[in-house]
Amino acid sequence: MTARYDIATLKSRLGSIRTEDNPALVKQKSRDFYWYSPTLKRQLDHVTGDIIVSPTSQDEVVQVLRTAFELGIPVTPRGTGTGNYGQAMPLSGGIVLDLSGFNKVLDIRPGSYVAEPGALISKIDEETRHHSRQEARLHPSTYHTASVGGFIAGGSGGIGSIKWGGLRDYGNIIRLKVLTMEANPRVMDLTGDDLHKVAHAYGTNGIITEVEMPLGPAYAWVDMLFGFDDFRTAAAFAEALGQQDGIALKELGVIAAPCPHNYFLRHRKFIPREKHVVVAMVADIAVASTIAFMNRFRGAALLMRSDTLTADDAKGLPPAFELTWNHTTLRALRVEPAITYLQVLYPYPNAVELATRIHEHFGNEVAAHLEFVRFDGKVTAFGLPMVRFTTEERLEEIMAIHEAMGAPIFNPHRYTLEEGGMKQTDEVQLAFKKEADPSGLLNPGKMIAWEDPSYDFKSGKNFLFKSLAEAGVNG
Ligand SMILES: Cc1cc2nc3c(=O)[nH]c(=O)nc-3n(C[C@H](O)[C@H](O)[C@H](O)COP(=O)(O)OP(=O)(O)OC[C@H]3O[C@@H](n4cnc5c(N)ncnc54)[C@H](O)[C@@H]3O)c2cc1C
Repeated sequence: MTARYDIATLKSRLGSIRTEDNPALVKQKSRDFYWYSPTLKRQLDHVTGDIIVSPTSQDEVVQVLRTAFELGIPVTPRGTGTGNYGQAMPLSGGIVLDLSGFNKVLDIRPGSYVAEPGALISKIDEETRHHSRQEARLHPSTYHTASVGGFIAGGSGGIGSIKWGGLRDYGNIIRLKVLTMEANPRVMDLTGDDLHKVAHAYGTNGIITEVEMPLGPAYAWVDMLFGFDDFRTAAAFAEALGQQDGIALKELGVIAAPCPHNYFLRHRKFIPREKHVVVAMVADIAVASTIAFMNRFRGAALLMRSDTLTADDAKGLPPAFELTWNHTTLRALRVEPAITYLQVLYPYPNAVELATRIHEHFGNEVAAHLEFVRFDGKVTAFGLPMVRFTTEERLEEIMAIHEAMGAPIFNPHRYTLEEGGMKQTDEVQLAFKKEADPSGLLNPGKMIAWEDPSYDFKSGKNFLFKSLAEAGVNG
């Protein structure tokens, strides 16, 4: 049930800042891709805010925060709402702070750019490429739809992680400007270790109003698909290719047969049903070397390279990165609506062996999907395997089996920071929340350590936020 707040007074005090309180439109902007998870769909389907407020400058955000603080109205920031875990869903109602119009690129330098948080990553790239042939080092597969502020507050990595690691690794964010939620919001410039206070904190402890992010060279990327007769060889090839330091790569994923043929409908003509597929983005200058390297693997076949396609073959093909990360799941869901997914780490140095063993263990029920990443300098695999969903109990069991076999799960079926992450309090983020959001008005319900300091993560129970319990949702 949505809480009641003094929305009329809020509106009157916001002056010319754009607001929208038509319930149908507010509900639309109160969701993200939470429905990827059957568990979150059941728990969060009813969630809606009371009003959308769309500031387009830092001064306007200050005015919104100051007024909301005074009236005790919760504020849930939103970039473009492409998160997967209900991160941008206002569990206690109140304001959906739509930052998509606060979106200018402010400066481009050799090696970095400065932008407002609502800027789409693809739009930023357009400007930096045009300016000086530079581009974002990391982006999610939602490149065309995700905001940079939302990526920093809610994402973790993706395209580029094979070279640069995860978004929260040192060096992948340079500086953030953050506003606190107080009677007089303060502006903080965070760098170095302080970035950990707000990166991937779901907007629970500050509103990001400016970002400075690193840039890399804008290569001409060639999409390449490689086919293999067995999963283990496909994964071993990908791992070995990822270790070739001289080959400039931006993406390196592996998807088990027959998923690529069944789900990548526009690429189907290139992919025989029985082929396990490696999807790569390779710099044009490294394509010949990549093919030479592929030839060392028995049975490997080049199924497609985007730079030599005929106009007819190229027509309507999405970029290869939209076959990877959570886009793999999206494409599977469109063909088989009962599909859901997991997020798994296959630790170094046994990623290929472990992923293959788990793949063989589950057979048809869980289809392997690996994304190779650089993790503390080592090439290893993260996974987003596709699960044929039957019951929530079985889903939990599948995750428990992964962990028992040695593959930690980052649970994508939970809306709290802790349960989706390390299953423990992040003391740095909690301490910053105490300082920056003393009334607990920012994105309520997402940080367990704030909502219930005595919560026992080893209890085996799932956290249920009070507004969801009041709405009759089960944990
Ligand atoms: C098909 C698909 C593929 C995806 N692929 C990837 C991937 O490869 N890698 C990846 O990491 N993620 C991926 N995601 C998740 C998501 O798209 C990205 O994390 C994306 O960057 C989120 O940006 P957004 O603007 O949509 O953020 P939103 O969903 O709007 O917000 C995300 C979180 O950030 C908070 N937030 C937003 N703006 C601010 C701000 N200015 N200050 C403070 N908090 C803020 C919100 O409250 C929310 O908690 C994928 C999702 C889908 C549906």
